[in-house]
Amino acid sequence: MPGIGHKTAQRMAFHVMGLTKEQAQDFAKAILDAKEKIRCCQVCQNLSDTPVCSICGNESRDHKVICVVEDPRDVMAFEKTREYEGLYHVLHGVISPMDGIGPEQLRIKELLNRVGSGEVKEVIMATNPTVEGEATAMYLSRLLKPMGIKVTRLAYGIPVGGNLEYADEVTLSRALEGRSEL
Ligand SMILES: [Zn+2]
Repeated sequence: MPGIGHKTAQRMAFHVMGLTKEQAQDFAKAILDAKEKIRCCQVCQNLSDTPVCSICGNESRDHKVICVVEDPRDVMAFEKTREYEGLYHVLHGVISPMDGIGPEQLRIKELLNRVGSGEVKEVIMATNPTVEGEATAMYLSRLLKPMGIKVTRLAYGIPVGGNLEYADEVTLSRALEGRSEL
């Protein structure tokens, strides 16, 4: 299990051994249920136990804005901010020729279909600021802009509580580029 060290793993293993047979069965069933019931939302491709997830199905959200992310965990991160009211689109990865991942392996077709339906006005590129994340954002923006869509990119900057002195040059120059008026 990712993020679980040797000691924690041992503690978990002993805990499982201490379960009653019934508890162990419930536990195993919960894992199987999750595996069977959780699919991708047919609209945004985020993980969901219903055909359309609760975010896409929420009429009070702004259906004109789509935030494109790499991974379902990124959706959770944005939701925690309680600031964003638009919808999402999960790519399930980024374009990475080194790993043999091309556009056709990602959920790009689904994004283009959504945008093509006409309701969407803005697409926010929220892929990670890595080489692959940047290339994927550029690739998508080249496809989306001719469709008359406003394509934006997340601002880069100095982390909250950070120190300018320790910021690398790229971060600092991007932060300068993306400055906003106070
Ligand atoms: Zn959805």
